[in-house]
Formats: sequence, structure tokens, C-alpha cells
Amino acid sequence: MNIYPVVIVGAGPAGIGVAALLTQCGIPHIILERNRIGTSFHRWPKETCFISPSFTGNFFGSVDLNAITPESSPAFGLQAEHPSGVQYARYLEDVADVYDLDIDEGVEVRDFQVQDDGVIELTTNFEKFKCMSLIWAGGEYQYKKVIPHTIRVGTSYEDIPSGRHVIIGGAESGIEMAYHLVRNGSSVKIIDPTEQWNQRVSDSSYGLSPFTFSRVRYLKKSGKAEFIAEYAKEITANKVVTETRNFSLEFPAIDATGFDISQSLAGKLFDFSKGYAALNDRDESTKYKNVFLVGPNVQHNKAIFCFIYKYRQRFAVVVSEILHRLGRQSPVIAEYADQGFLLDDLSCCDGECEC
Ligand SMILES: Cc1cc2nc3c(=O)[nH]c(=O)nc-3n(C[C@H](O)[C@H](O)[C@H](O)COP(=O)(O)OP(=O)(O)OC[C@H]3O[C@@H](n4cnc5c(N)ncnc54)[C@H](O)[C@@H]3O)c2cc1C
Repeated sequence: MNIYPVVIVGAGPAGIGVAALLTQCGIPHIILERNRIGTSFHRWPKETCFISPSFTGNFFGSVDLNAITPESSPAFGLQAEHPSGVQYARYLEDVADVYDLDIDEGVEVRDFQVQDDGVIELTTNFEKFKCMSLIWAGGEYQYKKVIPHTIRVGTSYEDIPSGRHVIIGGAESGIEMAYHLVRNGSSVKIIDPTEQWNQRVSDSSYGLSPFTFSRVRYLKKSGKAEFIAEYAKEITANKVVTETRNFSLEFPAIDATGFDISQSLAGKLFDFSKGYAALNDRDESTKYKNVFLVGPNVQHNKAIFCFIYKYRQRFAVVVSEILHRLGRQSPVIAEYADQGFLLDDLSCCDGECEC
């Protein structure tokens, strides 16, 4: 059995982005993907599109916000400002082609073992793989939180019958659901005690994007949306009870409360006792040496890297550490830093916009 210097689990933007950098630094690796490139994006409802805009500013020092390498741009490749899931998956395939990435599709990593010599052995549905470093890029979209008696939106909002709907969660996806349901003729109640629809914050991880605020304005103007800033303390098949109100349901409530990656193998690889994966300053697991996390679940105290334009800046942190452990260096890390693709001083993440 070959021992790979690096195995990456997952062929989404995080896995492909970090693989593109490993390739440029000359570090052999393989991506194991249980389905196909960009699976999560293929599963988005067909009406869903990116909230962060794409624009080809790459060669004037502002790389497209949704790009995973400094020299690519979804806006350029797709000619779209807010790509759909299927479009973005096509962009990921293009990046994989350009860097000639080695991706084993249909291979699901089911377990792992760290041997006494430090080699990590991965059990898959196919064969065993061994590696010196493991990068977990398994994402979150496939690990939804589950609230009994609620439903999730599937492949299209058109599949949800028109009527009176209650949505649990008023962050980006809850507002998106409300927007599409109202456009399809429904009325909605959006329940969320954090009432992000009433807040302005500088850091997009803590508030709604401008794209979503334009939808909030649409919803308010429509007269068909009610925003309820309360916690839904009881949800059954027939009713939702908040602190002061009681809503009878025409249809099951719709869950827009996000994801929980600890349901995946990440739950074993990382310590989740604080509610998110504990990492050292190189994004390595505090439980297992040479096990790294990339993607939207990277978090250091209040700095949350949940958008592509944020977590792409940690690929070079992980890869430079792997290079260091191999006793090597690469000029590409400095090039990434020059392009705004390396963020290792997190003191800047506390700022506020002046106006
Ligand atoms: C509706 C919606 C809108 C969004 N809009 C934006 C936006 O506008 N801007 C933005 O920056 N971000 C946005 N995001 C977030 C963005 O989608 C995520 O940042 C991105 O999907 C995370 O990429 P990833 O590579 O970590 O995970 P994924 O894209 O989920 O990829 C993980 C891959 O790992 C594979 N995998 C998982 N477990 C295993 C295993 N055990 N073995 C093998 N393979 C495995 C999966 O099949 C999957 O292909 C949005 C998310 C949603 C849900």
C-alpha cells in the first residue's frame, strides 16, 4: 500500500482549493470523494445562488470573492455574478482540470486509525489508504441539524405547496426560503430570536449579506412575511410554540437552522467540546497530529471562516505547515500571501467598518 504524503477528504471548494495549492508546491496527494466533484452544490435547490458576488478583479489586486485559487474567477468562467450551485460545481471541475488534480470519486472514507509510527490509515468503501497528513474537507451541507417534525427544502422551492408556512431560522437560508416561498404565492412566518434581519454588522459571519437584506426589504414590502424575534420552544406536526405565541401549522415547519459537522467523521477527528472543532494555530486537530481542517468550519475564537473568501486564506497556512514538516519551502506560499490568500494574523478580524 502506498503511503501518500497527504490525503484530502472531500472534493468541494475547500478540498479542491487546498489540492490546487499542494500541486503548485509539488506535494503529492490524492482527494477521496464519496460522490463527485461539487456534490453539495449539485444538491442545492435549483433556485439557490451565491450570496457573495463574483467579479473578475483578480489582476487589479482583488481576487473574485468566490475564487478558490488566485488566478481563477467564477465570474469570468461562468459569466455569472451570483452563480447557482450547478454553475459553481462546473467552476470546481474547471479548477480540478487546470491543476490536473488526482480525485478518486465514489470513495467514502469511513474510519481512520493512527498507527504507532504516526501513519494515518483510512478505511474506505473501496480499499485502505495510508498517509502522513490528512486534510479533512468534508464540508457541512451534507450534515444538517435535525429538528423532529420539520422538513428541509429539497431540489426546488416549486416542490413546496403554496400556503401558510413557518420557517425556523432567520439567517441567510431562512430568508432565502421565505423569499422564494413568497414569490411562489405563499405567506411565511420567520422565527428566530437573533433577529438578524434588524441588525447591521461588519463581519458577514455575524449578520446578513447585502444580497439577503435586499430580500428582507422585498419580504417586508410584500406584506406576506412576518418576522418573529422569539425562540421556538416547541415544534410538533401541528403547531409551533414560541415564548409568547402559538402558531397552528398548515404544513410542517421548515428547518433553516444550519449544519452540524460533528455528525461526520470530523466528530472523531476533532474535539468539539466548545461547540466547534478545536484547532491549533496551523488549523491542526488538537486531538491528532497531522490531521488538518479546511473549509467553512474553521474557527478561532471569534474569527469564523465560513465564507469562501475567508477560508481560502487558510489553505496556505495548512500547506506551509506541511511543507515545513517535510523540510521544504515553496515560493508559491509568498505568492498566495501577496494575493490576499494567506491570513495568519487574526488580530485584523476584530475591526468594524467606519461607515
Ligand atoms: C444555500 C447555501 C448558500 C451558500 N452561499 C455561499 C456564498 O454565497 N458564498 C460563500 O462563500 N459560501 C456560501 N455557502 C457556503 C459554501 O457552500 C460552503 O462554504 C462550501 O460548500 C463548503 O465547501 P467544502 O468544500 O468545505 O464542503 P462541500 O462543498 O460540502 O464538500 C465536501 C465534500 O466532501 C465529501 N465528503 C464528505 N464526507 C466524506 C467522506 N467521509 N468520504 C469522502 N468524501 C466525503 C462530500 O461528498 C462533498 O463533496 C453557501 C452554502 C449554502 C448551503
